[in-house]
Amino acid sequence: MNIHEYQARELFAKYAVATQPGGVAFTAEDAEAVAAKLGGRIVVKAQIHAGGRGKGTFKNGFKGGVHLCDTPAEAKDIAARMLGQVLVTHQTGPDGKEVAKVFVGEAVDITRELYFAILLDRATSAPIVIASTEGGVDIESVAEHTPEKILRLGVNPALGLMPYQTRQIATMLGLSGKLMNQAGKLFTNLYKLFIESDCSMVEINPLVVTGKGELLALDAKFGFDDNALYRQPEILAMRDKTEEDPREVAASEFSLNYIGLDGNIACLVNGAGLAMATMDIIQYAGGSPANFLDVGGGASKEQVFAAFQIILGDKNVKGILVNIFGGIMDCNIIATGIVEAAREIGLKIPLVVRLEGNNVEAGKKTLAESGLALITGENILDAAQKIVAEVKKAA
Ligand code: GDP
Ligand code: MG
Repeated sequence: MNIHEYQARELFAKYAVATQPGGVAFTAEDAEAVAAKLGGRIVVKAQIHAGGRGKGTFKNGFKGGVHLCDTPAEAKDIAARMLGQVLVTHQTGPDGKEVAKVFVGEAVDITRELYFAILLDRATSAPIVIASTEGGVDIESVAEHTPEKILRLGVNPALGLMPYQTRQIATMLGLSGKLMNQAGKLFTNLYKLFIESDCSMVEINPLVVTGKGELLALDAKFGFDDNALYRQPEILAMRDKTEEDPREVAASEFSLNYIGLDGNIACLVNGAGLAMATMDIIQYAGGSPANFLDVGGGASKEQVFAAFQIILGDKNVKGILVNIFGGIMDCNIIATGIVEAAREIGLKIPLVVRLEGNNVEAGKKTLAESGLALITGENILDAAQKIVAEVKKAA
């Protein structure tokens, strides 16, 4: 799960991570009021679950999701141009994201822009700090063209981020004297936040040195481990479903393991490994999967129904491949869920089913007697080839 920058700033406040004062606004009038309260120069920032806002462009042609203004009236005007508009950045994809709120903060006089992040390193199964003197711009291009400017520092989870390590990072970032002390506090507090909130990522880009010689976190991208959300009610309350793929929101309501993709062949599979293999084989057969979906070993008829509903509600889907190897799963539950969903919603696209395993005869009988125009796959490759051919034929 991800959160907005303004919500990350609420966590900054709780963990004493230094940043500029400011607040969230849902209307242009709110933005003006927040700006008036702050006084002085103001920064107005579009709030979406994606980075690259500064260099982004709104679909109506307005440039930039981060603007500096001199007066509250100007802040109101900028907010009015952003709110309700769709912002496209290199991270949103071409569809962009609609801006429903802005962050209004005291503008900071920046002398240096740095990069600081804490991630979970899968290779070592431990947190890792990534830091660079080249903040502000997109870190991927720094990694590609000047990798020597990026520090990667592993953290022993039993010890946590040690003071000698915060000094090492600060030194690499060229922070000395008072700034090194501030860096030590900031890095330690962020690490505490990262661990206690079950984050998978905390990215501060830019971390800035101000004209007054302060070190401040000016932007925040946080990711959280979904499997730990049950014990993070405060974080879970920050969830903004409007930022998520609506197919995935619907799937999560039925505890389905679903991930939306860009292809046009939907798949419904039991078991994560089999679901991955099914996506690979669709690709191998010349098609492209519209989703990953693992209904699990003990799916109910209602879950299968919901899964089918989500698939049929996806306008990109031009064909469906059901691949079930019933170990624990009862094939007839799958068959019944499919038939009921197809009847209720209407099935106008090709459906290939490959059923094998527990109670398969009853499942096949349910499908055969349903009167649905479905195609049977003999095995996983045969099923994939058939659905790819059907989709091509229809197009
Ligand atoms: P992003 O583009 O989504 O990563 O949004 P950021 O919050 O990182 O802002 C983009 C850029 O805008 C930063 O790298 C800064 O250069 C600039 N910026 C953001 N806030 C301020 C501010 O308070 N003062 C000044 N001078 N520049 C800012
Ligand atoms: Mg940024």
